[in-house]
Amino acid sequence: MDLEEALIRLYERLPQVETYVNVKLSDALGAIVAKDIIAPGNLPPFRASAMDGYAIIKKDFEDAPESQFSVIGASLAGHPFTGEVNSGECVRIFTGAKVPQGADQVILQEQCLTRHDSTGSQSNQSAVTFKPHQPAETYLRPIGHDVKQGQPLAKKGDQLDGFLLGALAASGIAEVCVFKKPTVGVFSTGDELVDPGTPLAALRDGQIYDSNRFTVINLLRHSPCTLIDLGRLPDDAKAVENAFMAASKRCQILITSGGVSVGDADFITATLKSLGKLDFWRLNLKPGKPLAFGQIHNCYVFGLPGNPVSTIVTLLLLAKPAIWHCAGARAVPRLRLPARLRSPLEHTPGRAEFQRGTLDEQEGLLHVTVTGDQSSNRLSTFKGANCLIEIPKTAGNLPAGATVWVSPFTGLLS
Ligand code: AMP
Ligand code: MG
Repeated sequence: MDLEEALIRLYERLPQVETYVNVKLSDALGAIVAKDIIAPGNLPPFRASAMDGYAIIKKDFEDAPESQFSVIGASLAGHPFTGEVNSGECVRIFTGAKVPQGADQVILQEQCLTRHDSTGSQSNQSAVTFKPHQPAETYLRPIGHDVKQGQPLAKKGDQLDGFLLGALAASGIAEVCVFKKPTVGVFSTGDELVDPGTPLAALRDGQIYDSNRFTVINLLRHSPCTLIDLGRLPDDAKAVENAFMAASKRCQILITSGGVSVGDADFITATLKSLGKLDFWRLNLKPGKPLAFGQIHNCYVFGLPGNPVSTIVTLLLLAKPAIWHCAGARAVPRLRLPARLRSPLEHTPGRAEFQRGTLDEQEGLLHVTVTGDQSSNRLSTFKGANCLIEIPKTAGNLPAGATVWVSPFTGLLS
């Protein structure tokens, strides 16, 4: 099965959450909007000045730009002038302040010939004259200039990021209806694994540190899910079965790494078969061929391959989009940009491959450099990398200068 086919299959299989909760804006970062949010009012809610200057009647100034205008008051942000501007009059005004009735033009304070009062207090300033000029614009923000009452501020399926939360706050919204985040449990598996922190000298022959669990949990940190670190499982059928049974009751999604390759103490696929169902196993993908996906009751299980690079690539390309789908997020295809290879690249036709690369820009063109030996055990292929390079299954070795598709990590992580 190819990656695209597997993704379609995942979207079909995984149900989207239907439960929603109301949360305060301050607790909503990262959550997925469950119902469209409509603007309750206009922004700005009143005609506001875009600059510091004097609010005036446009026609008045056009007819007699050299005349003197009496300053009848001041309008400051939060302290509007309540009167009306008539012919021959103006009001000292500041950015964001309400434009008084009658005025339809702001003359910038730089165009003022009389010394102006920068505090806005009326002081002794009673009249001003301006340099005769044609104002470039009215410097007036109409009601609803930014947001119109009734327009959608957020759509069902949007993730609440800093921009969106700021926009909701600007519209006075303090609470949002969001989908309940799915619970995602993360296991690592393997008798060879020990926790980081164990002194190197204390490692027994053949032992290595467990890295996948930390990588997976941290790469999912900004995803709309509640993560549970479920620890490490031994290569023991009974232990895996018991742990899966318990975890499947707490989690909507389980992510494991290791134990899915052939010839291995292959407990993950066997346990999926015995407790539930193995939906698919093995993809036309490099790295990540042994990926297994299945289900135990209402819990969906991603058996990611154990080699750290395979774990990450299958997490980013399959498990992560599936989690977002499950969380109610609208599917956004991964961003792909064309870039030129700075160095030749090796690839055997057969499986689509995702190598790690460093993308840079030169004279308006994107270039990409492969980060050395791409073996799937080498976490160091991510050092300095900022994208995945996609090599189609039909391609062979590619020369320097060839155009390839790259997916920046920024688009893959959010
Ligand atoms: P497996 O699929 O279990 O045979 O694992 C494939 C390779 O990935 C082996 O070299 C494992 O030692 C390694 N591996 C599996 N799980 C982890 C892990 N959590 N952290 C680091 N390496 C791992
Ligand atoms: Mg293993």
